[in-house]
Amino acid sequence: MKHYPIQLFDAASSTFTYLLVDPASRAAVLIDPVDHHVERDLAHLRRLDLQLTYVLETHAHADHVTSAGELCQRTGAISAVPSGCGIAPALVQLIDGDVIRFGLGETVQVLHTPGHTAGSMCYLWRGNLFTGDTLLIDGCGRTDFQGGSAASLYDSVITKLFTLPDATMVWPAHDYKGQSVSTIGWERQHNARLARRSQADFVTLMGQLDLPRPRLMDIAVPANRNLGLPHGV
Ligand code: FE
Repeated sequence: MKHYPIQLFDAASSTFTYLLVDPASRAAVLIDPVDHHVERDLAHLRRLDLQLTYVLETHAHADHVTSAGELCQRTGAISAVPSGCGIAPALVQLIDGDVIRFGLGETVQVLHTPGHTAGSMCYLWRGNLFTGDTLLIDGCGRTDFQGGSAASLYDSVITKLFTLPDATMVWPAHDYKGQSVSTIGWERQHNARLARRSQADFVTLMGQLDLPRPRLMDIAVPANRNLGLPHGV
């Protein structure tokens, strides 16, 4: 049976949160939860009678604050984060190639995909790829802070993501144009920034974006490095 995640949205930051469910055991995993949606997310867990086992982050976000710490405190779930993101309080520091196991035989594969930030990771579960800000629908995350590198992002996408099967579902961390899901095959053919573009062209393109600094960056990044918990906890 094909499994899809439950996709939740934060309109303030255009952030997607994903709920992965193993129907056999009612075990669940959350990816990239947002602070002011804690009660919504807990209500989904109660409604569906789920036991939250892991909370994952794709990177230390600059545009919103995570609720990972609070969710783990309230549910007993385990926080698991990319080891290169400076999120010290997390119980599990993931590295490339790790496999997270939950429920009755469910596996989440961990892919280190540096570029948007140096530590950014993608997660693969049952043909569903959670791409964070590494690969967006018809776009990609910016590469101009937090150890970002356009050359690295290009390599990550071309060698680690575009080599996955065409039918792999692409679930991004954000969308600003009203879309919600894509596929690897479609993005490899049509992604406006990455399809049929050389690495040199991509680096030039990203260098010319001249994007404004994220409004919440000075609050969000330190908060997210503490799993969204007040410092000192
Ligand atoms: Fe980001």
